[in-house]
Amino acid sequence: MKMLEAIDISFSYGKRLVLKQINLTLREGELVLLTGANGCGKTTLLKLLSGLLPFQEGQILYNKKKVSQKELRDLTGYVFHNPFEQIFNFTVEHEIAFGLENTGVERQRMLKIVDETLEFFKLNSVRFKDPGTLSCGQAQRVAIASIVVLKPKFLFLDEPTAMLDDEGCKQVKDCLKALLEEGIGIVVATHEPAFFSQLVSTVVHMSFNSVDFVGSFDQFKSKGFEDVEI
Ligand code: ADP
Repeated sequence: MKMLEAIDISFSYGKRLVLKQINLTLREGELVLLTGANGCGKTTLLKLLSGLLPFQEGQILYNKKKVSQKELRDLTGYVFHNPFEQIFNFTVEHEIAFGLENTGVERQRMLKIVDETLEFFKLNSVRFKDPGTLSCGQAQRVAIASIVVLKPKFLFLDEPTAMLDDEGCKQVKDCLKALLEEGIGIVVATHEPAFFSQLVSTVVHMSFNSVDFVGSFDQFKSKGFEDVEI
């Protein structure tokens, strides 16, 4: 089981320190929940871990080797909290094929991967639909599928259930369960940690710009952090 390790990561927007010496270990096939009040730095941390923000201080290791921002971008995928912000193709099928086309995957192989991905994410019935007409739950699955198709080792999701109804939440949870079984490491930033309690390996709590708790869901529950509802 390979690990992604953040070591003494700090990050500032201008003069404002948003992450202070964060240490975090993620493992393939495991789900980590990242919780904490709004503004404590969760999104910034996920964007750093997925190579969307430049490193400033500290380092990130994959399989014990230091990785660059570009290598991190290839190793990981980031799903925005509003799926419609990252979906821009005219059909679901094209959305899923887009990343593969961009990386020069040969056409027959690409079609096969798209077929398998639509099946895996239970999106066959909306294959030819305009993503703009989908429910939030379906759109979230399309967003996740279009990232997962590129075979990231780690997937980061920012509040993936915030915009969803109960059925949409359940669909996303089932989809994360299947991805964990495939061996992908997942980090979910969430205000609803209890929703993922059956899948979670570790809960990480942040306060202001620091990590102040790492432990199991039960340990987290008994801590009773006031800024997160259980
Ligand atoms: P969270 O995801 O926990 O709500 P964020 O990582 O979004 O926290 O934000 C952490 C802090 O950084 C907040 O105070 C926020 O206002 C600030 N911040 C976020 N993005 C930017 C940005 N692009 N420029 C300046 N400050 C930002």
